[in-house]
Amino acid sequence: MVNPFDLQGKNAVVTGANTGLGQAMAVALARAGARIALVGRSTPDDTQAMIVAAGGEAAVVMADLSSSDVAKDVIAESEAALGSVDILVNNAGIIRRQDALEFSELDWDDVMATNLKVPFFLAQAAAQSMVSGGRPGKIINIASLLSLQGGIRVASYTASKSGLAGLTRLLSNEWASLGINVNAIVPGYFATNNTAALRQDEVRNRQILERIPAGRWGNPDDLGGATVFLASRASDYVHGTLIPVDGGWMSR
Ligand code: NAD
Repeated sequence: MVNPFDLQGKNAVVTGANTGLGQAMAVALARAGARIALVGRSTPDDTQAMIVAAGGEAAVVMADLSSSDVAKDVIAESEAALGSVDILVNNAGIIRRQDALEFSELDWDDVMATNLKVPFFLAQAAAQSMVSGGRPGKIINIASLLSLQGGIRVASYTASKSGLAGLTRLLSNEWASLGINVNAIVPGYFATNNTAALRQDEVRNRQILERIPAGRWGNPDDLGGATVFLASRASDYVHGTLIPVDGGWMSR
């Protein structure tokens, strides 16, 4: 029987794969059979070891994703290491917290570059490679609850993740007919470095937990199923959508 979630023979690029959600998604894709290019500015030794231990294969592509100058090289190096790029997971992201009255231009520009501009140019380079190779492809953007809600004290993060949601829809309109699926995952509140400050704040931690119907923070492994779905044949007719994996937060 053909398994629609099988990723054997597929090659995936995952950005920011040394830790957190990127690490868990890279491992999930490898467990489903994909070979992975782990892209980031820190050596992803742990992720690579986890993939090898699961019987998979991973290459490392070092890149600082704060500037779009690197986008073409990241995709070209991944292609050289793996043979093709069939799946791109735009995961690397940063957040800066400050009142909007005080928010600095630097905190605006840094976050917009890493969370929105670079993902666009990586998607463009990946799609160019898929089209010129005559292959279908899957692009998965890692959005946020703040693609759908306003948030507070995170002006550039909300703007970047709301922009990424719009970009997901735009790219799916342009590329669906080329055999490229562009979709996004909306992670809820996950226990990673990115949310360490929130979890350490007793009041915010309690408020957040009280609002999550599942009653717990997400574990990075909770993202594996949605990631493999959006990377596989199972989602061939799914375009331009945002899939919340949030313990029910958005339904509350
Ligand atoms: P994290 O801080 O643990 O990981 C972020 C990753 O991005 C790291 O691998 C980091 O090295 C990489 N990165 C950041 N800037 C980079 C740069 N300039 N060059 C190369 N790599 C860079 O955070 P996380 O929680 O795993 O976040 C991953 C993604 O998920 C982010 O886009 C984040 O916005 C999103 N997200 C997280 C949550 C959550 O609850 N943790 C919720 C919604 C969305």
